[in-house]
Order: sequence, then structure tokens, then C-alpha cells
Amino acid sequence: MAGPFADIVPLGTRLDRAMTYRVPENLLEQTDRPRIAEGSRVLVPLGPRWATGIVVAFRDRTELESVRAIAMCLDPYPVITAALLETCRWIASYYLCSLREVLTAALPAGIHTQSNQRISIHPEHPLNGSLTPRQSAVVSALQDAGDLNLRQLERRLGKGTRGIVHELVRKGVLEAQQAMVDPRVRISTQRVARLVPTDPEWATAELPAIRKRAPKQGVCLDFLLEHNGTATTRELGEIGVDARVLRRLADRRLVDLHDEEVVRDPYAQVTSDPPDTFDPTADQRNALDRILPDVKDSRFRVHLMHGVTGSGKTLVYIEAVAAALEQGRGAIVLIPEIALTPQTVRRFRARFGDRVAVLHSALSAGERYDAWREVREGRRHVVVGARSAVFAPVIDLGLIVVDEEHDGAYKQDEKAPRYSARDVAVVRGQQEEFPVVLGSATPSLESYHNADTGKFDRIELEGRVDDRPLPEVRLVDMRQEGGDLFSTALRQAIQDRLGRDERIILLQNRRGYAPFVQCTECGVSQECASCQVTLTYHAPRAGSDGRMVCHYCGRTEPRAPVCPSCRAPGLRLFGSGTQRVEEALAERFPEARVLRMDVDSTSRKGSHERILDAFGAGEADILLGTQMVAKGLDFAGVTLVGVISADTGLSLPDFRAGERTFQLLTQVAGRAGRGHTPGEVIIQTYRPEEQPLLCARTHDYATYVSGELQTREALGYPPFGRMTLFLFRGPQERDVAKAAGECAETLRSSDSEGLEVLGPVPAPLARLQGHYRWQVIAKSFSAQRLNKAARHALERHHRRAVTLSVDVDPVSML
Ligand SMILES: [Zn+2]
Ligand SMILES: [Zn+2]
Repeated sequence: MAGPFADIVPLGTRLDRAMTYRVPENLLEQTDRPRIAEGSRVLVPLGPRWATGIVVAFRDRTELESVRAIAMCLDPYPVITAALLETCRWIASYYLCSLREVLTAALPAGIHTQSNQRISIHPEHPLNGSLTPRQSAVVSALQDAGDLNLRQLERRLGKGTRGIVHELVRKGVLEAQQAMVDPRVRISTQRVARLVPTDPEWATAELPAIRKRAPKQGVCLDFLLEHNGTATTRELGEIGVDARVLRRLADRRLVDLHDEEVVRDPYAQVTSDPPDTFDPTADQRNALDRILPDVKDSRFRVHLMHGVTGSGKTLVYIEAVAAALEQGRGAIVLIPEIALTPQTVRRFRARFGDRVAVLHSALSAGERYDAWREVREGRRHVVVGARSAVFAPVIDLGLIVVDEEHDGAYKQDEKAPRYSARDVAVVRGQQEEFPVVLGSATPSLESYHNADTGKFDRIELEGRVDDRPLPEVRLVDMRQEGGDLFSTALRQAIQDRLGRDERIILLQNRRGYAPFVQCTECGVSQECASCQVTLTYHAPRAGSDGRMVCHYCGRTEPRAPVCPSCRAPGLRLFGSGTQRVEEALAERFPEARVLRMDVDSTSRKGSHERILDAFGAGEADILLGTQMVAKGLDFAGVTLVGVISADTGLSLPDFRAGERTFQLLTQVAGRAGRGHTPGEVIIQTYRPEEQPLLCARTHDYATYVSGELQTREALGYPPFGRMTLFLFRGPQERDVAKAAGECAETLRSSDSEGLEVLGPVPAPLARLQGHYRWQVIAKSFSAQRLNKAARHALERHHRRAVTLSVDVDPVSML
């Protein structure tokens, strides 16, 4: 068949390949309607349904005998730019997932039109045949409701209903019709009233008569006059002007009513700090001298900016973004977790005002869509956002900054595409030709190694701004301290700060009250029934008893009165979470005002900001929390940082456990002494001889990294070797183990040279949410060979009862 044809990836389906459609004439011509291009969003028929799809290629011919036509183009511009489409293709190929999964991640959620089947009783069917009980149930549900879609029927009548419906449709008892479902998220509008007369004389001449004859109309006209001639109908409603009054005024041509698009911008009200005055340090000047020429010449290069905490990296980012804007180009600034660093957003808004769009997952779908459109339509040029903002469709992108580039939050590992936003940023820079700036006080070993080998340009910021000293760090050996939660040193330091009205940050990287509950007789601990992990005890709150919580699936249970195994009474609480530390603080320092920040205290929207604002405003003396308190907080009054237990992460079965501990300790220590008074850091540990702790004590990144790199090289771990993790999950352990075994065998028999295969073994979390988990790890020094072998293994996986997910360059090994 001769074309033109388009290959289209349908979204909102499980189809993992592109489908070919005919392009109707009217979509090719340059008319007032949008012209179709690669990256356009279109509506297409798919089986009996309608679906939204993305055009990924055009072709002149197809081998297919019958091809259906594209129904319409949905936007006035391609939603995925040509360059971004290339990056999406790279992600699909490198991370071994489908282009559909990548495109879905790259677009705001919920904006797609679809159709589904409305099922009803066929009007001409006399219901006199004999029906099975389940068939009658379907019929009577429809008699009650009129029509329902398949999903609603399934929800009411349970699984397997689909088959019964299809059978009844075949028999002619029921009929099925396709109905369009509007996207969940749409452009939001508001109704606006505008005063029609513009002549200033009019008000004096006519208004008094109107006020007298029709007082309500007079109120409305007066209000409009006071508000530059326009107001929303909602504002008018609040002063008693209803739709009837407005209609009268519209009939008299005194008021014009129309709908206006509203941009839902939760940051519109955010007060911005005054712009920073920039008097660069020598280090900052040097950093800009290295970065700015690449921004100006639109040259791809990756700069790894290694700057100690408090060295003023953000100001360098801001100047680099300003340079991109001067060139008429835009910029993306990635931050690991926006909620934890409201200050950063404020600083960018202070400098760039409304040109900044903020994109992150805590926005509502509507807010996200609006921010995305502002960017795509070229009204905003700077995006500050979390992981998925790396896909932002910035027009003429000229720079990406990745702040805290070592942070694990940049890797999406819970679902495909399992991409690293940092690595995608580098690929985008290469594809679209602009520089990428990676910044951190504790660069990942991957990036550090890339700088060692000359792939990245290394920039060092060695001193803090204003020559403030790095805080003094002390390690306290808890084996000498007799089991108390606070060592003598930490107790004294806290008391000291409270007396001087200085502030304190305390880190305990475990939430809840006690991480586990154990029988003192037989050693059994209370475990989650569907996950093979111990339950964490959470202290009673107002209105509820203490309970045991699974931190993996969220299941809660009461605390067992006796041992589940030997029935002995006296299950004891072991370990300390943030709640227990909070309780101990209240006992020991009753006068101290404490704020707790962890997943439990920040579940509601905006609660991070409330806690941080309160601490910033001096409403508390101590901020206690999990790793959330280690990230990027910048409070001048903090002079003491205490780490209750540095050992929580060290013994995890993950080769990055040491690296993460070093990063966490260095980051949290960096919160101290950012103002004029020098800071002090006290780290409590049972393992004071461990390298990550020793190096954190002396702020010695270089020594830590060179030692760790040697170990990694010897073992073939990243950044030297590459890894791919195959995770198998399913309800039957036998099937899961078998699938993992077959995968390992396929990998081993592949003729890939230098491929090392570990496993199959049960995953470190061997059972989660009732599913058994097994894993296989493949290692190689060549990313290409590893990719090829993994692709082959993935194609051979065919056990339907077992889910396989592939994680390329995994960040979490748990
Ligand atoms: Zn027991
Ligand atoms: Zn669980």
C-alpha cells in the first residue's frame, strides 16, 4: 500500500509496539488545522476503541493490507520535540523498556483522551431466554443502572465478568458501544465579566440612573469600574451579583462575558527572597569561567562541580541559568526533592520571577499540566523540578543543572522506565548540544570516576563562602556509653546550645518508635504477614493505640501480647526510631521545643514547608528527623548537628552502603555553622573504626573515594563494571525461582565475553506484599555487551505468572 503512513505508539494501553496508520490528506496540508509531525499527539482507532497515541515516524509504504486512518491531531504543536523523541528512544533502548513507557513518563499524566465500552441491554432483545445465574446478575445490574462500562461491571460483579458480557453481546442480549472519555485533566477556565463602555464620560452620565433603577446591576458596574473593568463571576458572586444580573447586563451590552484560561500555579503566591547580591568568591568565579563559555557557544560538556557544603553552588547555578537566558535559551534545574528545599525554589524565583516553572510530583495533575504547557508554549523558560522535570519541553534548551547529583532520588526504580535523570540529562545535553552542570558536596563515584578519566570537567569549590570554617566533627564510641540514647558529649552539647538560644539538628535515619519487637526467650520478631520484614513499632497517638507498621506495604497490626512462636510474654522493643528519640528528648530536655520531620509527620501536602518554615522562624530549638533533615537545608542559626546512630545504613546488603553513609554524614554535618557562629557535629556510633565515618570526621572526600574506588575496581562493581538487575516476582515461589533460573542460564549461555552472572538467589527482601522475589545480577565491563545479553534474556522470559523487571545501573540493591 502507498502512503503516507505514520507509526504511532498508543498510550494508555499495554501495547508495546508502534502501529501503522494512514495519514489523511487534511492533516498534511498547511491549513488552519494543526499539521501532524513526529511527536504529535493524535487520536486513533484501536480495535473497537479509541486511543491517544504519539507519532514516532512517517513512512511511504507498508506491507499491511488494511490500515486505518488517524482521526485527528490533538494539539497545535508536537508534544514531544524532535530532539526529545531521540532522547526517549535512547532511554527505551538503554534501559530495556518500551517507547510507550518512556513517552508516558515524559508527558504530564491524565491528559489523554480514550474511549471505553458502554454496555447496555439490547433494546430489541426480549429477555425470555434462560440465563445462568451469573448472566442474570449482569442483566439485572444493567436493568438497574441503564448502562455501565466494563470496569464498573467488573467492580460490581467480580473478575470474569468480562467473558460473560462478551458472550451475551454475541448472543444479542446486550449491546456494546464505544464512548469517548474526556481526559481527567483539562485546561481550566474561569468566567470573566468585562465592562463594555470604555468612555469615562459614560459612568458619570448613565450610572446614577442605573443604580437607582436596578441596584444590583449598579453594584456590579461599580465593582467593575473599581477593578480596571474586569472581574471573575466568582468574585462578583461573593458581593451578591448572580448569573441573572449578569445576563441582564450582557443583554443590555453593558457587560461582556467570556471564558478565560486559568493557569494553576501553586507557586504564584510563594514569597520570594530578595535576589542574591552576587559577589563571587575566587572559586565561584573560576567555576563560572569554566561553565559560561560552553553556555555561550552551546557546546556539550559535562562539568562536575565538587563543592563542600556551604560553598555557594546555587549562586553558580543561578549565574549559569542567567547566561543561558541571555542567549535566548532556556534551562532546567533538577533538585532531588523539591519539598525539602523550598529555599532553592525561592532563590530562583527571586532572580527570574515568572519565567520559572516548577515541576514535581506533589503537584496536582492540573497544576502539572498547566506548568508543562507554559513551558512548551514558550511562556516560561526556566524549569526547576524533581526527577521527571528532565523531560520538560523547554524551547531552545541551553543548560541542565543537576543539583546534589549523587542523590538516589534521581533514579526511578519502582516502575519502568527505570532511568537515572542525571544520566538522561547528560544524554539530552549531548543530543541537543548544551552544557550540563552536575553539582554535589559528595559526588557519586560514577561521576567522580568520569572526571578522573577526563569524560567530565572537574571544578572544585574548596572553601565555604566568607571563609567560614567547616564544622568540627567528633565521633563518639557508644560502646563506652552504657546504653543511653544520648552520649555524655551530645547531652552536654545540646544543653549548651539550648542555654545559648542556638539551634540544633538531630538525625536518626529510622522512623517509628522501635524498628523491631523481639521475643527475649526465643529471639523471634514480629513480622509482616505478607512481607518478610520485621514490623516497626509506632507509638500511640491521640485517639489511637500504638501499632506495628510494615514500612514496605503499610500494613498495620496490633502489638502482639505474647511471642507468636513460643507464646512467652515479654516481647521487647529494640532499636530507636525518631519517635523514641523525640520521647527521650522530652524527658531529658523538657524545656526544648522539638519539631519532628519524617515520612509520618509529613504525609499531608505542604507539611514539609510548614515544619521548615517554623524551624526557620525560630519557633523550635531542635529539628529531629530522618535523612530528610540532611538535604540542602540552609539555616544560619544551626550550630550543632547530632547523629544519634550512624550505623543504621552501614550493614545493609548493598555495595553502596558505605558510600551512602559517608554522603549522609557529610551532608548532615554540612547543615552546621552556615551562619557566623562556627558549627559542631557529634556522630554517635558503635563502629567508630569504619572508613566512611573516619573520613566524614575529617571532611576527607578524596581519601574516602580513592579507597572505595580501589575496592570497587577489584570487585568489578560500578563505576568500573556495569550492572543489570533482573528481579522476578510472583505468588508461587517455585515459578519465581524457576524463571530466575532460566534467566541466569540464558545469560550464562550467551556468548558474551566477560559477562559475570550472579544468582539466581532470593532477593534481599525475599517476600514483599505476598509476592516471592528472586534476583539475578549480570555484570560486565562493557555496557553494550551487557545490554545485548540482557535484551536476549528479556525476550526469552515467558512465564506469565512471574513478573520480570529489569533495572539497568540499579541504584538500590534491596
Ligand atoms: Zn518467643
Ligand atoms: Zn508488609
